[in-house]
Amino acid sequence: MMRLFDSHAHVYDKQFDSDRDSMLKNVFRTVDYVVCPSENVETSRQTVALLPCYAGLYGAVGIHPHETKNATDEALQEIANLAKSDDKVVAIGEIGLDYYYFYSPKEIQKIWFEKQIELAKELDLPIIIHDREAHGDTFSILKKQASTKLRGIMHCYGGSVEMAKELMKLGFYISFAGPVVFPKSSKLKEVAKAIPLDRLLIETDSPYLTPPPHRGERNNPSYVRFVAEEIARLKQISVETVVEQTRQNALHIYQIKK
Ligand SMILES: [Zn+2]
Repeated sequence: MMRLFDSHAHVYDKQFDSDRDSMLKNVFRTVDYVVCPSENVETSRQTVALLPCYAGLYGAVGIHPHETKNATDEALQEIANLAKSDDKVVAIGEIGLDYYYFYSPKEIQKIWFEKQIELAKELDLPIIIHDREAHGDTFSILKKQASTKLRGIMHCYGGSVEMAKELMKLGFYISFAGPVVFPKSSKLKEVAKAIPLDRLLIETDSPYLTPPPHRGERNNPSYVRFVAEEIARLKQISVETVVEQTRQNALHIYQIKK
């Protein structure tokens, strides 16, 4: 029996509205734990509301870089309140920088990234980072914010091995999603191969980034197994080893007590 841990899946997403409960019940047959990150106050509330319904479901609350143009201090306060409202809120996220879509201006994204890092440190929670085409600024903010309290996860990692090494020194785990399974991702596969297994996480980013052989379908946390299989193939180790170690890593960074 696989004991998978999907470290990142947006299970509140409206794409699951028609069958969320049956989807999740099915998922929890093969997956032990799912962490659901949020994008804004509304989805943070939705995440927290789902937590009591499934033993293996944990959550993160936060404001995604896309949403920072609408962020306010009241919203940040509400994120803090939600984080404190339930022990199953295990991180602040997803937060970070997105210079690919630029749905929010760069300077605004940076301000809210830092404010939320400070909140996470205050609450002693790890952060879940979204970094798209913003490696330089993401890294310099993390370096500036470095402290014994700063730690977290680089979600759906897309940077270099060199940057990953620096991030690991700062207390970060490197998480891989569906793109590592895509046949064309040769560079990403090399990066995944180089990350030590004790710092590596697996995720789906459901309902997005569906890995083969299910591309084109809606993603769900049970497909994290295809990410585990690809990591095992790349590292030439057993799938069981990947599943067990990534599970231990995720339990550790999210401080989930078994
Ligand atoms: Zn996400």
